[in-house]
Amino acid sequence: MICRFAPSPTGYLHLGHAYSAWIGWASARASGGTFLLRLDDIDAARCRPEYESAIMEDLTWLGLDRDGPVRRQSEHLAAYAAALDRLEALGVVYPCFCSRKEIRAEVAAMPSAPHGPDGPLYPGTCRGLDAATRAARIAAGEPYSLRLDAAEAMRRTGPLTWSEASQGPIPVDPAVNGDVMLARKDAPASYHLSVVVDDAEQGVTLVTRGDDLRHATHVHRILQALLTLPEPTYAHHRLITDESGTRLAKRADAFAIRHYREAGESPAQVWARCGVNGPAGLGAGAAD
Ligand code: GLU
Repeated sequence: MICRFAPSPTGYLHLGHAYSAWIGWASARASGGTFLLRLDDIDAARCRPEYESAIMEDLTWLGLDRDGPVRRQSEHLAAYAAALDRLEALGVVYPCFCSRKEIRAEVAAMPSAPHGPDGPLYPGTCRGLDAATRAARIAAGEPYSLRLDAAEAMRRTGPLTWSEASQGPIPVDPAVNGDVMLARKDAPASYHLSVVVDDAEQGVTLVTRGDDLRHATHVHRILQALLTLPEPTYAHHRLITDESGTRLAKRADAFAIRHYREAGESPAQVWARCGVNGPAGLGAGAAD
């Protein structure tokens, strides 16, 4: 199996990251496969080189060795642009001129705005603009993003499923994420577009990631089908939570691996906090 861990270098790794990396590493090692590290560093404003080196150092400290070179998304913008061109050529992408504020106002005014797992979905305002209006607004220099016409995309692909390990096929529903953004001027590729291209280019066969991203798989499968990319299996895993059952926020410094290291804990003790043994050879102290 080819597995990967794909953190964004926008902060230090915390227990939730460690657990996620563990699931990918253990799946790869158990199958005699490959464990890859990818840095989701497209968001230049939030990513820092010091977090990059900290991620690698923490993974090594935790005992998770990796294979092959590290892939940085920021070095593959041409691949995302090519995928976007293909999607545009298929006629499943449209320009959206709405600002966040306009979208919020529109959603607030709708009696029953479509909602996804992370809140309101884009209500489709610009989907129906005619070609002349689109061209005129672009020519006038209006900023815009590019969105996937999810319903149209699924008319092209026909019914889809994704394969969830130990669960079987899950039917894909285009309404779960709605017309997601694929790119905009200050973000040449959205998470959805880049992750699908990266997993294919890296030959990932098992995508392991937290349950908070399960819903995103609906749109990832649609993009894979449109782009005729291979279909990995998915294994979404439980999220690590704090004592009150709340999931660790992205920059939960109190739960950062660094914090435990500096407090003198061993890797085995940190793995025990994640509820797993960690890699063999770490010594006593871990629980499962
Ligand atoms: N970079 C994403 C994150 O840190 C993970 C992407 C993925 O595993 O698909 O949430």
